[in-house]
Amino acid sequence: MELPDLPEPLPMPVVDSHCHLDSTQEKSGLEPEDAIRLAASVGVTRIVQIGCDPEGCHWAVQAAERWPTVIAGVAIHPNDAARMGPELASGLELVAELAQHHRVRAVGESGLDYFRTRDAAGQALQRKAFAAHIAFAKAFDRTLVVHDRDAHDDILDVIDSEGAPSRIVMHCFSGDDHFAKACLDRGAYLSFAGTVTFKNNDHLRDALVLAPLDRILVETDAPYLTPMPLRGKPNASYLIPHTARFLAATLGIDVEQVCQALNDNADAAFGGGW
Ligand SMILES: [Zn+2]
Ligand SMILES: [Zn+2]
Repeated sequence: MELPDLPEPLPMPVVDSHCHLDSTQEKSGLEPEDAIRLAASVGVTRIVQIGCDPEGCHWAVQAAERWPTVIAGVAIHPNDAARMGPELASGLELVAELAQHHRVRAVGESGLDYFRTRDAAGQALQRKAFAAHIAFAKAFDRTLVVHDRDAHDDILDVIDSEGAPSRIVMHCFSGDDHFAKACLDRGAYLSFAGTVTFKNNDHLRDALVLAPLDRILVETDAPYLTPMPLRGKPNASYLIPHTARFLAATLGIDVEQVCQALNDNADAAFGGGW
């Protein structure tokens, strides 16, 4: 697939707080090394690489070992949890083991996805896996990265019944201002993806405006969710400037100010600088 052009560089460094360099390579042919270099050239100097299945978790750890600007998150993605069957137990054991690696800062993405997993049995497995990931985040003092698709109420229910870890990131935040408040009340950071730039997503902008400046993050979820005006093309960390500038414009503040916040918040959200 044809990759979009490089945007104008940001005036200050920011972090892509959620991306999949391995899937990006599969989708667009962009090599991880090039993805990291291009991102840094426009001010996206650090990346959180997320592994979603056993193979992806190993890949994420290796990427974080290889590149000092990359840290890893490890998990069994809820849609994988729903269909792994008996292998889920060993998958969760692997997550627990890798979560203790010094380059792994996050447990996730875990959570609930009722958009893709609609059967009760699959949703029950997601819930079980989510509870396990919450326990790992607490046991190893890692940041919980939450995937929530069409499951806001149950996400809160599981977090409340298991007990919130000290750091939570709502990845690709997808709720409105009311749900934002509920997440913020539980100490979560709201991570905004390209979806915040989509015309029909006023509810995401309501959430953004409500959130304190020190609780927002920016992410690509690359290769998915490419921001406007490039929607439909493959996403990559070097396209963060489009979303970061959109956040600044929506909040009515300088790009410099939003970059500073996004950079500082990533350090706080992921347990310190890297
Ligand atoms: Zn996700
Ligand atoms: Zn993701």
